[in-house]
Amino acid sequence: MSSVFSKIIARELPADIVYEDDLVIAFRDIAPLAPVHVLIVPKKEIPTVNDASAADEAALGRMFLAAAKIAEAEGIAADGYRLIVNTNTHGGQEVFHLHLHLLGGRALGPMLARKP
Ligand code: AMP
Repeated sequence: MSSVFSKIIARELPADIVYEDDLVIAFRDIAPLAPVHVLIVPKKEIPTVNDASAADEAALGRMFLAAAKIAEAEGIAADGYRLIVNTNTHGGQEVFHLHLHLLGGRALGPMLARKP
């Protein structure tokens, strides 16, 4: 099954691509939650972190290096940013093709709201 992100990688769907190399691609989130909201995606369709294997180590590492490069290019590296990977139901994952959210451009506040 081809994820929506695989379709972007294959250029079958449009996206605002900000970075690409041999292992990962990054594009702006379609529904941004911050002034900068970029998704960093391995080109290999790994559904969730649970499905990653030792063979994926290079791609997983590259996602972080790409995040740092994009943060620098977007001018948010010094002020800071947040990287998030949602996994399965409790993590709120909606697209089952592993991705790293890069969020920044404003103070993002606490990582999670406390339970009432
Ligand atoms: P997650 O909840 O971690 O699975 O996040 C999925 C993210 O993908 C959401 O923030 C969506 O807004 C985003 N998204 C879904 N479809 C697209 C698309 N075609 N282009 C860019 N971002 C998308």
